[in-house]
Amino acid sequence: MLGRMMDFPLTLTHLFERAERLFPGRPIVSRKADRSLARATVKDFGVRTRRLMSALEGLGVQPGTRVATLAWNHAQHLEVYFAVPLMGAIVHTLNLRLHPNEIAYIADHAEDSVVVVDASLVPLLEKFIDKVPWIRHVVVIADGTTEVKGGYLDYEKLLEGAEPRAELPQLDERAAAMLCYTSGTTGNPKGVLYTHRSTCLHAMAVCLRDSLGLASMDTAMPVVPMFHAAAWGIPYAAIATGAKLVFPGPHLDPASIVELMEGEEVTLAAGVPTIWLGILDLLDRDRKAEKAHDLSRVRTMVIGGAAAPPAMIDGFKTRHGLEVTHAWGMTEMNPLGTVARLKPDMVGQAWDTELPVRATQGFPVMFVEHRLMDESGKALPWDGKTMGELEVRGPWVASSYFADEGKDRFTETGWFKTGDVVTIDPEGYVTITDRAKDVVKSGGEWISSVALENALMSHPAVLEAAVFAAAHPKWDERPVAAIVQRPGSDVSEEELAGHIKDQFASYWLPDAYVFMDQIPRTSTGKFLKTRLRELYGDILLVTSQPPPAVKAK
Ligand code: ADP
Repeated sequence: MLGRMMDFPLTLTHLFERAERLFPGRPIVSRKADRSLARATVKDFGVRTRRLMSALEGLGVQPGTRVATLAWNHAQHLEVYFAVPLMGAIVHTLNLRLHPNEIAYIADHAEDSVVVVDASLVPLLEKFIDKVPWIRHVVVIADGTTEVKGGYLDYEKLLEGAEPRAELPQLDERAAAMLCYTSGTTGNPKGVLYTHRSTCLHAMAVCLRDSLGLASMDTAMPVVPMFHAAAWGIPYAAIATGAKLVFPGPHLDPASIVELMEGEEVTLAAGVPTIWLGILDLLDRDRKAEKAHDLSRVRTMVIGGAAAPPAMIDGFKTRHGLEVTHAWGMTEMNPLGTVARLKPDMVGQAWDTELPVRATQGFPVMFVEHRLMDESGKALPWDGKTMGELEVRGPWVASSYFADEGKDRFTETGWFKTGDVVTIDPEGYVTITDRAKDVVKSGGEWISSVALENALMSHPAVLEAAVFAAAHPKWDERPVAAIVQRPGSDVSEEELAGHIKDQFASYWLPDAYVFMDQIPRTSTGKFLKTRLRELYGDILLVTSQPPPAVKAK
Protein backbone atom coordinates (compact mmCIF):
# COMPACT_ATOMS: atom_id res chain seq x y z
CA MET A 1 0.00 0.00 0.00
CA LEU A 2 3.00 2.34 0.31
CA GLY A 3 3.48 5.03 -2.30
CA ARG A 4 -0.16 5.82 -2.96
CA MET A 5 -1.82 9.23 -2.83
CA MET A 6 -3.67 10.53 0.23
CA ASP A 7 -7.32 9.71 0.53
CA PHE A 8 -8.18 13.38 0.90
CA PRO A 9 -11.94 14.01 1.12
CA LEU A 10 -13.60 16.21 -1.51
CA THR A 11 -15.81 18.35 0.73
CA LEU A 12 -17.24 21.86 0.65
CA THR A 13 -15.30 22.43 3.88
CA HIS A 14 -12.14 22.63 1.82
CA LEU A 15 -13.63 25.14 -0.64
CA PHE A 16 -14.89 27.28 2.23
CA GLU A 17 -11.65 27.29 4.26
CA ARG A 18 -9.64 27.89 1.12
CA ALA A 19 -11.69 31.00 0.31
CA GLU A 20 -11.36 32.31 3.87
CA ARG A 21 -7.58 31.93 3.81
CA LEU A 22 -6.78 32.87 0.25
CA PHE A 23 -9.46 35.31 -0.92
CA PRO A 24 -10.81 37.15 2.16
CA GLY A 25 -11.05 40.49 0.36
CA ARG A 26 -13.05 39.32 -2.65
CA PRO A 27 -16.40 41.07 -2.98
CA ILE A 28 -19.90 39.60 -2.81
CA VAL A 29 -22.51 42.04 -4.10
CA SER A 30 -26.26 41.53 -3.72
CA ARG A 31 -29.13 43.56 -5.13
CA LYS A 32 -31.70 43.97 -2.36
CA ALA A 33 -35.46 44.11 -2.71
CA ASP A 34 -35.36 47.94 -2.53
CA ARG A 35 -32.85 47.85 -5.44
CA SER A 36 -29.92 49.09 -3.31
CA LEU A 37 -26.67 47.09 -3.41
CA ALA A 38 -25.35 45.28 -0.32
CA ARG A 39 -21.58 44.83 -0.38
CA ALA A 40 -19.71 42.21 1.61
CA THR A 41 -16.40 40.37 1.37
CA VAL A 42 -15.50 36.71 1.55
CA LYS A 43 -14.17 37.44 5.04
CA ASP A 44 -17.62 38.70 6.13
CA PHE A 45 -19.20 35.70 4.42
CA GLY A 46 -16.89 33.34 6.32
CA VAL A 47 -17.62 34.79 9.76
CA ARG A 48 -21.37 34.99 9.10
CA THR A 49 -21.47 31.43 7.77
CA ARG A 50 -19.73 30.22 10.94
CA ARG A 51 -22.23 32.15 13.07
CA LEU A 52 -25.07 30.63 11.10
CA MET A 53 -23.71 27.17 11.81
CA SER A 54 -23.82 27.82 15.56
CA ALA A 55 -27.29 29.32 15.29
CA LEU A 56 -28.63 26.37 13.30
CA GLU A 57 -27.07 23.98 15.75
CA GLY A 58 -29.00 25.81 18.47
CA LEU A 59 -32.17 25.13 16.49
CA GLY A 60 -31.44 21.42 16.55
CA VAL A 61 -30.00 21.04 13.06
CA GLN A 62 -27.90 17.87 12.95
CA PRO A 63 -26.16 15.83 10.27
CA GLY A 64 -28.80 14.81 7.75
CA THR A 65 -31.37 17.46 8.78
CA ARG A 66 -33.02 19.14 5.80
CA VAL A 67 -32.84 22.94 5.93
CA ALA A 68 -34.91 24.51 3.18
CA THR A 69 -34.43 27.89 1.52
CA LEU A 70 -37.18 29.92 -0.11
CA ALA A 71 -35.14 32.83 -1.35
CA TRP A 72 -33.83 34.86 -4.27
CA ASN A 73 -30.14 35.02 -5.16
CA HIS A 74 -28.22 36.96 -2.52
CA ALA A 75 -25.35 36.74 0.00
CA GLN A 76 -27.50 35.24 2.79
CA HIS A 77 -28.61 32.46 0.46
CA LEU A 78 -24.91 31.80 -0.18
CA GLU A 79 -24.31 31.59 3.57
CA VAL A 80 -26.99 28.91 3.87
CA TYR A 81 -25.52 27.16 0.79
CA PHE A 82 -22.36 26.60 2.85
CA ALA A 83 -23.35 26.61 6.54
CA VAL A 84 -25.81 23.74 6.22
CA PRO A 85 -23.60 21.27 4.29
CA LEU A 86 -20.57 22.20 6.41
CA MET A 87 -22.52 20.87 9.41
CA GLY A 88 -23.23 17.63 7.57
CA ALA A 89 -26.85 18.72 7.10
CA ILE A 90 -28.61 19.11 3.74
CA VAL A 91 -29.62 22.41 2.16
CA HIS A 92 -32.84 22.04 0.17
CA THR A 93 -33.55 24.86 -2.28
CA LEU A 94 -37.30 25.32 -2.76
CA ASN A 95 -38.48 26.73 -6.10
CA LEU A 96 -40.44 29.87 -5.27
CA ARG A 97 -42.12 29.95 -8.69
CA LEU A 98 -44.00 26.70 -8.16
CA HIS A 99 -47.61 26.52 -7.07
CA PRO A 100 -47.90 26.44 -3.24
CA ASN A 101 -49.38 22.93 -3.44
CA GLU A 102 -46.33 21.74 -5.36
CA ILE A 103 -43.94 23.38 -2.91
CA ALA A 104 -45.91 21.74 -0.09
CA TYR A 105 -45.53 18.34 -1.78
CA ILE A 106 -41.78 18.85 -2.18
CA ALA A 107 -41.13 20.21 1.34
CA ASP A 108 -43.18 17.39 2.81
CA HIS A 109 -41.45 14.76 0.70
CA ALA A 110 -38.05 16.14 1.72
CA GLU A 111 -39.13 16.38 5.39
CA ASP A 112 -37.76 19.91 5.70
CA SER A 113 -37.53 20.91 9.35
CA VAL A 114 -36.17 24.46 9.09
CA VAL A 115 -37.05 27.00 6.40
CA VAL A 116 -34.94 30.08 5.71
CA VAL A 117 -37.18 32.50 3.83
CA ASP A 118 -36.98 36.01 2.35
CA ALA A 119 -39.35 38.43 4.08
CA SER A 120 -41.05 39.12 0.74
CA LEU A 121 -41.77 35.39 0.37
CA VAL A 122 -43.32 34.83 3.81
CA PRO A 123 -46.84 35.20 2.31
CA LEU A 124 -45.97 32.38 -0.12
CA LEU A 125 -44.63 30.23 2.72
CA GLU A 126 -47.84 30.79 4.66
CA LYS A 127 -49.85 29.36 1.79
CA PHE A 128 -48.33 25.94 2.31
CA ILE A 129 -46.66 25.76 5.72
CA ASP A 130 -49.68 24.04 7.33
CA LYS A 131 -49.29 21.16 4.90
CA VAL A 132 -45.71 20.43 5.98
CA PRO A 133 -45.81 18.95 9.49
CA TRP A 134 -42.01 18.62 9.68
CA ILE A 135 -41.28 22.36 9.81
CA ARG A 136 -40.13 23.35 13.31
CA HIS A 137 -38.51 26.73 12.69
CA VAL A 138 -38.95 29.55 10.21
CA VAL A 139 -36.02 31.94 9.87
CA VAL A 140 -36.81 35.18 8.04
CA ILE A 141 -34.25 37.19 6.08
CA ALA A 142 -35.69 40.66 6.67
CA ASP A 143 -35.34 43.27 3.94
CA GLY A 144 -35.76 46.26 6.24
CA THR A 145 -39.27 47.03 5.00
CA THR A 146 -41.21 44.56 7.13
CA GLU A 147 -41.06 43.41 10.73
CA VAL A 148 -40.37 39.76 11.36
CA LYS A 149 -43.63 38.39 12.77
CA GLY A 150 -43.92 36.76 16.15
CA GLY A 151 -43.21 33.06 16.08
CA TYR A 152 -40.66 33.46 13.29
CA LEU A 153 -36.94 33.98 13.87
CA ASP A 154 -35.01 36.92 12.47
CA TYR A 155 -31.97 35.76 10.48
CA GLU A 156 -29.82 38.76 11.45
CA LYS A 157 -30.69 38.53 15.15
CA LEU A 158 -29.92 34.82 15.13
CA LEU A 159 -26.50 35.56 13.67
CA GLU A 160 -25.84 38.39 16.13
CA GLY A 161 -26.52 36.09 19.04
CA ALA A 162 -24.35 33.23 17.83
CA GLU A 163 -20.60 32.73 18.16
CA PRO A 164 -18.75 31.93 14.94
CA ARG A 165 -18.18 28.20 14.92
CA ALA A 166 -14.41 27.71 15.18
CA GLU A 167 -13.88 24.05 14.32
CA LEU A 168 -15.61 22.55 11.33
CA PRO A 169 -16.54 18.88 11.52
CA GLN A 170 -14.75 16.35 9.35
CA LEU A 171 -17.13 15.07 6.74
CA ASP A 172 -17.36 12.06 4.51
CA GLU A 173 -17.14 13.18 0.89
CA ARG A 174 -20.10 10.92 0.10
CA ALA A 175 -22.32 12.74 2.61
CA ALA A 176 -25.28 14.58 1.09
CA ALA A 177 -24.84 18.35 0.78
CA MET A 178 -27.80 19.63 -1.22
CA LEU A 179 -31.24 18.47 -2.30
CA CYS A 180 -32.78 19.80 -5.53
CA TYR A 181 -36.07 18.78 -7.09
CA THR A 182 -36.77 18.65 -10.81
CA SER A 183 -39.81 20.65 -11.76
CA GLY A 184 -41.77 17.50 -12.54
CA THR A 185 -43.56 18.55 -15.72
CA THR A 186 -44.51 14.87 -15.91
CA GLY A 187 -45.49 13.15 -12.67
CA ASN A 188 -44.45 14.31 -9.22
CA PRO A 189 -41.25 16.32 -8.78
CA LYS A 190 -38.25 14.15 -8.00
CA GLY A 191 -35.47 14.93 -5.57
CA VAL A 192 -31.79 14.72 -6.44
CA LEU A 193 -29.22 14.58 -3.64
CA TYR A 194 -25.90 16.20 -4.46
CA THR A 195 -23.01 14.92 -2.37
CA HIS A 196 -19.98 16.90 -1.21
CA ARG A 197 -17.94 14.89 -3.67
CA SER A 198 -20.22 15.51 -6.64
CA THR A 199 -20.52 19.22 -5.80
CA CYS A 200 -16.75 19.67 -5.44
CA LEU A 201 -15.87 17.79 -8.61
CA HIS A 202 -18.59 19.73 -10.43
CA ALA A 203 -17.23 23.06 -9.09
CA MET A 204 -13.81 22.10 -10.42
CA ALA A 205 -15.35 21.19 -13.78
CA VAL A 206 -17.01 24.62 -13.95
CA CYS A 207 -13.52 26.12 -13.67
CA LEU A 208 -11.95 24.17 -16.53
CA ARG A 209 -10.99 26.43 -19.40
CA ASP A 210 -12.78 24.20 -21.90
CA SER A 211 -15.88 24.36 -19.73
CA LEU A 212 -16.99 27.73 -18.25
CA GLY A 213 -13.42 28.58 -17.23
CA LEU A 214 -14.43 30.36 -14.02
CA ALA A 215 -11.35 31.86 -12.36
CA SER A 216 -10.31 34.35 -9.68
CA MET A 217 -10.18 37.15 -12.26
CA ASP A 218 -13.87 36.69 -13.02
CA THR A 219 -16.92 38.50 -11.75
CA ALA A 220 -19.66 35.91 -11.89
CA MET A 221 -23.35 36.71 -11.88
CA PRO A 222 -25.73 33.77 -11.61
CA VAL A 223 -29.00 35.10 -13.01
CA VAL A 224 -30.16 31.50 -12.91
CA PRO A 225 -31.94 31.18 -9.57
CA MET A 226 -30.17 29.49 -6.68
CA PHE A 227 -33.20 27.18 -6.51
CA HIS A 228 -32.50 25.92 -10.05
CA ALA A 229 -29.85 23.19 -9.82
CA ALA A 230 -27.52 25.05 -7.41
CA ALA A 231 -27.46 28.04 -9.79
CA TRP A 232 -25.51 25.69 -12.05
CA GLY A 233 -22.73 25.33 -9.48
CA ILE A 234 -21.53 28.89 -10.02
CA PRO A 235 -21.73 30.02 -6.36
CA TYR A 236 -19.62 27.04 -5.25
CA ALA A 237 -17.12 27.48 -8.07
CA ALA A 238 -16.84 31.22 -7.43
CA ILE A 239 -16.05 30.70 -3.74
CA ALA A 240 -13.56 27.97 -4.64
CA THR A 241 -11.67 30.21 -7.06
CA GLY A 242 -12.03 33.62 -5.44
CA ALA A 243 -14.14 35.03 -8.26
CA LYS A 244 -16.21 38.10 -7.34
CA LEU A 245 -19.90 37.23 -6.98
CA VAL A 246 -22.80 39.43 -8.04
CA PHE A 247 -26.34 38.40 -7.10
CA PRO A 248 -29.31 40.05 -8.80
CA GLY A 249 -31.80 39.48 -5.95
CA PRO A 250 -35.42 39.57 -7.08
CA HIS A 251 -34.78 42.03 -9.96
CA LEU A 252 -34.54 39.85 -13.04
CA ASP A 253 -35.89 42.23 -15.69
CA PRO A 254 -33.50 42.92 -18.59
CA ALA A 255 -32.80 46.55 -17.63
CA SER A 256 -31.83 45.65 -14.05
CA ILE A 257 -29.58 42.82 -15.18
CA VAL A 258 -27.82 44.91 -17.82
CA GLU A 259 -27.34 47.72 -15.29
CA LEU A 260 -25.73 45.30 -12.84
CA MET A 261 -23.53 43.75 -15.53
CA GLU A 262 -22.26 47.20 -16.46
CA GLY A 263 -21.96 48.65 -12.96
CA GLU A 264 -20.26 45.64 -11.36
CA GLU A 265 -18.15 44.80 -14.43
CA VAL A 266 -19.51 41.29 -14.70
CA THR A 267 -17.35 38.96 -16.80
CA LEU A 268 -19.55 35.85 -16.73
CA ALA A 269 -23.32 35.76 -16.35
CA ALA A 270 -25.54 32.71 -16.63
CA GLY A 271 -29.23 32.09 -17.23
CA VAL A 272 -31.93 30.44 -19.34
CA PRO A 273 -32.64 31.58 -22.93
CA THR A 274 -35.85 33.48 -22.10
CA ILE A 275 -33.82 35.86 -19.88
CA TRP A 276 -31.31 36.45 -22.65
CA LEU A 277 -33.95 36.91 -25.36
CA GLY A 278 -35.25 39.80 -23.26
CA ILE A 279 -31.76 41.22 -22.79
CA LEU A 280 -30.92 41.00 -26.49
CA ASP A 281 -34.17 42.78 -27.32
CA LEU A 282 -33.32 45.54 -24.83
CA LEU A 283 -29.81 45.96 -26.23
CA ASP A 284 -31.17 46.10 -29.79
CA ARG A 285 -33.76 48.72 -28.89
CA ASP A 286 -31.27 50.80 -26.94
CA ARG A 287 -28.81 50.67 -29.80
CA LYS A 288 -31.46 52.02 -32.16
CA ALA A 289 -32.20 54.78 -29.66
CA GLU A 290 -28.44 55.47 -29.45
CA LYS A 291 -28.34 54.60 -25.77
CA ALA A 292 -24.92 53.09 -25.18
CA HIS A 293 -24.06 50.28 -22.76
CA ASP A 294 -20.54 49.36 -21.75
CA LEU A 295 -20.45 45.58 -21.56
CA SER A 296 -16.82 45.38 -22.62
CA ARG A 297 -15.88 43.42 -19.48
CA VAL A 298 -18.27 40.56 -20.30
CA ARG A 299 -16.20 37.53 -21.24
CA THR A 300 -19.16 35.26 -21.85
CA MET A 301 -22.82 34.70 -21.18
CA VAL A 302 -23.58 31.11 -20.29
CA ILE A 303 -26.94 30.06 -21.68
CA GLY A 304 -28.55 26.72 -20.93
CA GLY A 305 -31.56 25.00 -19.42
CA ALA A 306 -33.24 25.13 -22.85
CA ALA A 307 -31.90 25.51 -26.37
CA ALA A 308 -30.22 28.84 -27.12
CA PRO A 309 -31.54 29.85 -30.57
CA PRO A 310 -28.71 30.41 -33.11
CA ALA A 311 -30.27 33.75 -34.07
CA MET A 312 -29.80 34.91 -30.49
CA ILE A 313 -26.17 33.73 -30.33
CA ASP A 314 -25.62 35.49 -33.67
CA GLY A 315 -27.38 38.68 -32.56
CA PHE A 316 -25.27 39.01 -29.41
CA LYS A 317 -22.06 38.44 -31.36
CA THR A 318 -22.58 40.41 -34.53
CA ARG A 319 -24.60 43.34 -33.16
CA HIS A 320 -23.08 43.69 -29.69
CA GLY A 321 -19.74 41.84 -29.75
CA LEU A 322 -20.88 39.53 -26.91
CA GLU A 323 -20.00 35.86 -26.72
CA VAL A 324 -22.46 33.17 -25.72
CA THR A 325 -21.38 29.87 -24.19
CA HIS A 326 -24.14 27.37 -24.85
CA ALA A 327 -24.31 24.60 -22.25
CA TRP A 328 -26.57 21.67 -21.53
CA GLY A 329 -27.29 20.12 -18.17
CA MET A 330 -29.88 18.63 -15.87
CA THR A 331 -30.87 18.85 -12.21
CA GLU A 332 -29.87 15.17 -12.11
CA MET A 333 -26.25 16.14 -12.87
CA ASN A 334 -25.32 19.04 -10.57
CA PRO A 335 -26.18 20.21 -13.44
CA LEU A 336 -23.42 20.66 -16.03
CA GLY A 337 -23.13 18.05 -18.80
CA THR A 338 -21.91 19.49 -22.09
CA VAL A 339 -20.50 22.80 -23.28
CA ALA A 340 -20.35 24.08 -26.87
CA ARG A 341 -16.65 24.83 -27.15
CA LEU A 342 -14.80 24.97 -30.43
CA LYS A 343 -12.08 22.42 -30.99
CA PRO A 344 -8.74 23.94 -32.10
CA ASP A 345 -9.15 23.11 -35.79
CA MET A 346 -12.47 24.98 -35.82
CA VAL A 347 -11.01 28.24 -34.53
CA GLY A 348 -10.42 31.05 -36.99
CA GLN A 349 -13.12 30.00 -39.43
CA ALA A 350 -15.77 32.34 -40.75
CA TRP A 351 -18.53 33.17 -38.25
CA ASP A 352 -21.09 31.40 -40.47
CA THR A 353 -19.13 28.17 -40.01
CA GLU A 354 -18.55 28.74 -36.30
CA LEU A 355 -22.13 29.65 -35.38
CA PRO A 356 -23.67 26.21 -36.02
CA VAL A 357 -21.04 24.64 -33.71
CA ARG A 358 -21.65 27.22 -30.99
CA ALA A 359 -25.38 26.55 -31.29
CA THR A 360 -25.04 22.83 -30.56
CA GLN A 361 -25.24 21.74 -26.93
CA GLY A 362 -21.54 20.87 -27.21
CA PHE A 363 -19.51 17.90 -26.04
CA PRO A 364 -19.21 16.54 -22.49
CA VAL A 365 -16.99 18.13 -19.88
CA MET A 366 -14.27 15.96 -18.41
CA PHE A 367 -15.62 12.96 -16.48
CA VAL A 368 -19.05 13.02 -18.12
CA GLU A 369 -19.55 10.25 -20.68
CA HIS A 370 -22.37 10.19 -23.20
CA ARG A 371 -23.95 7.78 -25.65
CA LEU A 372 -26.88 7.62 -28.08
CA MET A 373 -29.43 4.83 -27.71
CA ASP A 374 -32.55 3.65 -29.49
CA GLU A 375 -35.77 2.58 -27.77
CA SER A 376 -34.66 -1.04 -27.60
CA GLY A 377 -31.40 -0.15 -25.84
CA LYS A 378 -29.15 -0.46 -28.91
CA ALA A 379 -26.32 2.04 -29.42
CA LEU A 380 -26.82 4.38 -32.38
CA PRO A 381 -24.13 5.90 -34.60
CA TRP A 382 -22.56 9.31 -34.03
CA ASP A 383 -23.31 10.59 -37.53
CA GLY A 384 -24.99 13.90 -36.66
CA LYS A 385 -28.23 12.63 -38.22
CA THR A 386 -29.59 9.64 -36.31
CA MET A 387 -31.91 10.69 -33.50
CA GLY A 388 -32.01 8.73 -30.27
CA GLU A 389 -32.06 9.18 -26.52
CA LEU A 390 -29.05 10.71 -24.82
CA GLU A 391 -27.65 8.69 -21.92
CA VAL A 392 -24.93 9.93 -19.57
CA ARG A 393 -22.82 8.78 -16.66
CA GLY A 394 -20.20 10.35 -14.44
CA PRO A 395 -19.30 11.27 -10.85
CA TRP A 396 -21.92 14.05 -10.70
CA VAL A 397 -24.76 12.13 -12.33
CA ALA A 398 -27.48 10.88 -9.96
CA SER A 399 -27.65 7.12 -9.44
CA SER A 400 -31.24 7.24 -8.14
CA TYR A 401 -33.81 9.76 -7.02
CA PHE A 402 -34.20 10.80 -3.39
CA ALA A 403 -36.52 8.31 -1.65
CA ASP A 404 -36.10 5.99 -4.61
CA GLU A 405 -38.70 7.14 -7.12
CA GLY A 406 -38.46 7.03 -10.90
CA LYS A 407 -36.17 4.00 -11.09
CA ASP A 408 -36.84 3.54 -14.83
CA ARG A 409 -34.45 6.41 -15.70
CA PHE A 410 -31.45 4.56 -14.22
CA THR A 411 -30.26 1.63 -16.28
CA GLU A 412 -28.72 -1.51 -14.90
CA THR A 413 -25.50 -0.78 -16.74
CA GLY A 414 -25.04 2.45 -14.79
CA TRP A 415 -26.19 4.96 -17.40
CA PHE A 416 -28.81 7.65 -16.78
CA LYS A 417 -31.52 8.10 -19.41
CA THR A 418 -31.84 11.85 -19.91
CA GLY A 419 -35.18 11.86 -21.72
CA ASP A 420 -33.60 14.13 -24.34
CA VAL A 421 -33.86 13.24 -28.01
CA VAL A 422 -30.59 14.16 -29.69
CA THR A 423 -28.11 13.55 -32.44
CA ILE A 424 -24.38 13.19 -31.78
CA ASP A 425 -21.92 14.07 -34.54
CA PRO A 426 -18.63 12.27 -35.24
CA GLU A 427 -16.78 14.85 -33.06
CA GLY A 428 -19.04 14.08 -30.09
CA TYR A 429 -21.12 17.28 -30.28
CA VAL A 430 -24.69 16.82 -29.07
CA THR A 431 -27.64 18.54 -30.72
CA ILE A 432 -30.89 18.37 -28.80
CA THR A 433 -33.84 18.02 -31.10
CA ASP A 434 -36.44 17.71 -28.35
CA ARG A 435 -37.27 16.52 -24.89
CA ALA A 436 -38.86 13.11 -25.34
CA LYS A 437 -42.10 14.47 -23.94
CA ASP A 438 -42.16 17.40 -26.39
CA VAL A 439 -41.34 15.48 -29.53
CA VAL A 440 -43.78 15.86 -32.44
CA LYS A 441 -44.52 12.48 -33.99
CA SER A 442 -46.20 12.94 -37.34
CA GLY A 443 -47.21 9.74 -39.14
CA GLY A 444 -44.48 7.86 -37.20
CA GLU A 445 -41.75 10.40 -38.09
CA TRP A 446 -40.04 12.60 -35.50
CA ILE A 447 -40.07 16.29 -36.20
CA SER A 448 -37.67 18.46 -34.20
CA SER A 449 -39.57 21.28 -32.52
CA VAL A 450 -36.26 22.88 -31.48
CA ALA A 451 -35.02 23.06 -35.10
CA LEU A 452 -38.30 24.72 -36.18
CA GLU A 453 -38.17 27.17 -33.26
CA ASN A 454 -34.59 28.12 -34.10
CA ALA A 455 -35.55 28.81 -37.71
CA LEU A 456 -38.59 30.87 -36.73
CA MET A 457 -36.62 32.89 -34.19
CA SER A 458 -34.22 33.92 -36.95
CA HIS A 459 -37.03 36.06 -38.45
CA PRO A 460 -36.50 39.66 -37.35
CA ALA A 461 -40.16 40.11 -36.32
CA VAL A 462 -40.14 37.07 -34.01
CA LEU A 463 -39.26 37.59 -30.35
CA GLU A 464 -40.20 34.09 -29.15
CA ALA A 465 -41.29 30.90 -30.90
CA ALA A 466 -42.32 27.58 -29.39
CA VAL A 467 -43.36 24.61 -31.51
CA PHE A 468 -45.61 21.95 -29.99
CA ALA A 469 -47.54 18.86 -31.05
CA ALA A 470 -51.23 19.29 -31.86
CA ALA A 471 -53.53 16.31 -32.38
CA HIS A 472 -54.28 15.52 -36.03
CA PRO A 473 -56.96 13.17 -37.42
CA LYS A 474 -54.68 11.69 -40.08
CA TRP A 475 -51.09 12.06 -38.85
CA ASP A 476 -51.69 11.67 -35.07
CA GLU A 477 -49.68 14.80 -34.39
CA ARG A 478 -48.61 17.82 -36.38
CA PRO A 479 -46.40 20.76 -35.39
CA VAL A 480 -48.03 24.07 -34.50
CA ALA A 481 -45.99 27.22 -33.84
CA ALA A 482 -46.74 29.68 -31.05
CA ILE A 483 -45.30 33.09 -31.92
CA VAL A 484 -44.61 36.25 -29.94
CA GLN A 485 -43.86 39.19 -32.19
CA ARG A 486 -41.39 41.93 -31.40
CA PRO A 487 -43.21 45.12 -30.33
CA GLY A 488 -44.17 47.13 -33.42
CA SER A 489 -43.92 44.15 -35.81
CA ASP A 490 -46.75 42.73 -37.83
CA VAL A 491 -45.76 39.51 -39.54
CA SER A 492 -48.20 37.14 -41.24
CA GLU A 493 -48.42 33.38 -41.00
CA GLU A 494 -47.62 33.17 -44.74
CA GLU A 495 -44.46 35.21 -44.33
CA LEU A 496 -43.23 33.00 -41.49
CA ALA A 497 -44.02 29.85 -43.45
CA GLY A 498 -42.12 31.32 -46.43
CA HIS A 499 -39.16 32.23 -44.19
CA ILE A 500 -38.54 28.65 -43.08
CA LYS A 501 -39.83 26.59 -46.00
CA ASP A 502 -36.49 26.04 -47.74
CA GLN A 503 -34.81 24.78 -44.57
CA PHE A 504 -37.01 21.73 -43.96
CA ALA A 505 -38.77 18.89 -45.71
CA SER A 506 -42.33 20.05 -46.37
CA TYR A 507 -43.87 17.59 -43.92
CA TRP A 508 -41.89 19.27 -41.10
CA LEU A 509 -43.52 22.68 -41.60
CA PRO A 510 -46.08 23.78 -38.97
CA ASP A 511 -49.73 23.29 -39.87
CA ALA A 512 -50.78 26.40 -37.99
CA TYR A 513 -49.44 29.48 -36.24
CA VAL A 514 -50.90 31.04 -33.12
CA PHE A 515 -49.91 34.54 -32.08
CA MET A 516 -49.77 35.50 -28.42
CA ASP A 517 -48.38 38.13 -26.02
CA GLN A 518 -46.09 35.76 -24.12
CA ILE A 519 -45.35 32.06 -24.31
CA PRO A 520 -46.27 30.41 -21.01
CA ARG A 521 -43.17 29.58 -18.98
CA THR A 522 -42.14 26.87 -16.54
CA SER A 523 -41.03 27.72 -13.02
CA THR A 524 -37.47 27.91 -14.27
CA GLY A 525 -38.29 30.18 -17.21
CA LYS A 526 -38.47 27.64 -20.04
CA PHE A 527 -41.26 27.54 -22.62
CA LEU A 528 -44.11 25.51 -21.11
CA LYS A 529 -45.23 23.31 -23.97
CA THR A 530 -47.64 21.24 -21.88
CA ARG A 531 -49.65 24.44 -21.34
CA LEU A 532 -49.56 25.22 -25.06
CA ARG A 533 -50.86 21.74 -25.73
CA GLU A 534 -53.63 22.18 -23.18
CA LEU A 535 -54.67 25.46 -24.82
CA TYR A 536 -54.15 24.68 -28.47
CA GLY A 537 -53.67 20.91 -28.74
CA ASP A 538 -57.02 20.49 -30.52
CA ILE A 539 -56.65 23.43 -32.85
CA LEU A 540 -56.24 21.20 -35.90
CA LEU A 541 -59.35 19.18 -35.01
CA VAL A 542 -61.70 22.09 -34.32
CA THR A 543 -60.94 24.73 -36.88
CA SER A 544 -64.20 26.66 -36.56
CA GLN A 545 -63.37 27.73 -32.97
CA PRO A 546 -60.97 30.68 -32.53
CA PRO A 547 -58.15 29.70 -30.15
CA PRO A 548 -58.22 31.21 -26.64
CA ALA A 549 -55.97 34.20 -26.18
CA VAL A 550 -52.94 33.93 -23.90
CA LYS A 551 -52.16 37.19 -22.16
CA ALA A 552 -48.84 38.26 -20.79
CA LYS A 553 -48.44 37.76 -17.05
P1 ADP B 1 -36.76 20.79 -15.58
O1 ADP B 1 -37.23 19.39 -15.80
O2 ADP B 1 -37.35 21.48 -14.45
O3 ADP B 1 -36.70 21.61 -16.84
P2 ADP B 1 -33.88 20.78 -15.56
O4 ADP B 1 -33.57 22.23 -15.53
O5 ADP B 1 -33.03 19.85 -14.86
O6 ADP B 1 -35.31 20.59 -15.02
O7 ADP B 1 -34.03 20.38 -17.06
C1 ADP B 1 -33.11 19.61 -17.75
C2 ADP B 1 -33.53 19.56 -19.18
O8 ADP B 1 -33.49 20.87 -19.75
C3 ADP B 1 -32.68 18.72 -20.07
O9 ADP B 1 -33.02 17.36 -19.97
C4 ADP B 1 -33.00 19.31 -21.42
O10 ADP B 1 -34.21 18.80 -21.95
C5 ADP B 1 -33.20 20.77 -21.13
N1 ADP B 1 -31.99 21.52 -21.44
C6 ADP B 1 -31.03 21.91 -20.59
N2 ADP B 1 -30.08 22.60 -21.24
C7 ADP B 1 -30.44 22.65 -22.54
C8 ADP B 1 -29.87 23.21 -23.74
N3 ADP B 1 -28.76 23.90 -23.72
N4 ADP B 1 -30.54 23.01 -24.89
C9 ADP B 1 -31.69 22.33 -24.93
N5 ADP B 1 -32.27 21.78 -23.86
C10 ADP B 1 -31.66 21.94 -22.67
